[in-house]
Amino acid sequence: VLQGGGVPPNVDSRERSGERVANRIVVLGSCGAWPEPSRACSGFYIECQGARVVLDLGYGTLPRLLSLLDSPAGDGLDAVIVTHRHPDHMVDLHGLMRARWFARRSSPAIPLYAPAGVVTSLLELEEGHAAAIRRVFDWHALPQQRYRVGPFMLESWPLPHHVPNAGVRLTSSSSVIAYTGDCGPDPAVATLAAGADVFIAEATDRDLQPGTWPPGSAPKLHMGAAEAGRAAASARARLLMLTHFWPGYDRERSRALATAHFNGKVVLAEDGLEIPLP
Ligand SMILES: [Zn+2]
Repeated sequence: VLQGGGVPPNVDSRERSGERVANRIVVLGSCGAWPEPSRACSGFYIECQGARVVLDLGYGTLPRLLSLLDSPAGDGLDAVIVTHRHPDHMVDLHGLMRARWFARRSSPAIPLYAPAGVVTSLLELEEGHAAAIRRVFDWHALPQQRYRVGPFMLESWPLPHHVPNAGVRLTSSSSVIAYTGDCGPDPAVATLAAGADVFIAEATDRDLQPGTWPPGSAPKLHMGAAEAGRAAASARARLLMLTHFWPGYDRERSRALATAHFNGKVVLAEDGLEIPLP
């Protein structure tokens, strides 16, 4: 079942005005759990065929998103996709909600694709003001049926995590983007990322962090870089972008762990990094 509109209305006018319409992903934040100095938590901004979509809005991602949109009110954003309710993936969705509520109350609601818990968390932050949330966001449940999001087909899979997490796959006529959100290893990860041009995978390696758990004792509700590399190899992904790094962690270590299992290109997510899309 498909839901939602087709190509957003701003595309034609932008193309007619001669503005360059780039297909790209920009990393809004690359930390897992909490941010570190000058780095935000999970968030990815996508421009494809004139549509603008954001994937996750963790701590500190909103200012960078608003800069990319060149709008303090978040104008021009066609859809928001949030993988799960943990604050390092959604707390700045609340900031976006306030930007729209205070500055653009009479504008059409922005489509929001997310598990129900994300809306519950928004409600808690907004002290139960459900009408305001409905006014700002037009919510569609994940993981569920397929949706049409601008030029993309959005598909989603439930992946193992502490709370319901939706891995997402965005397929346009020119590219495939896959993103795990936070999840333990699962056969569905390779399905999600099959043939992806850009496979964004969490690589938390939490059991390698000093002062957390002894190696091997952590519950498998996060992937490490080696597991991300193995999933990218079985998916035959073109590019693996590792993300969700533990604050203070040596990220090059994750690159080495992933490249031991995956022959394709491995990129470390970094705040502000731009990846061109086909
Ligand atoms: Zn997380």
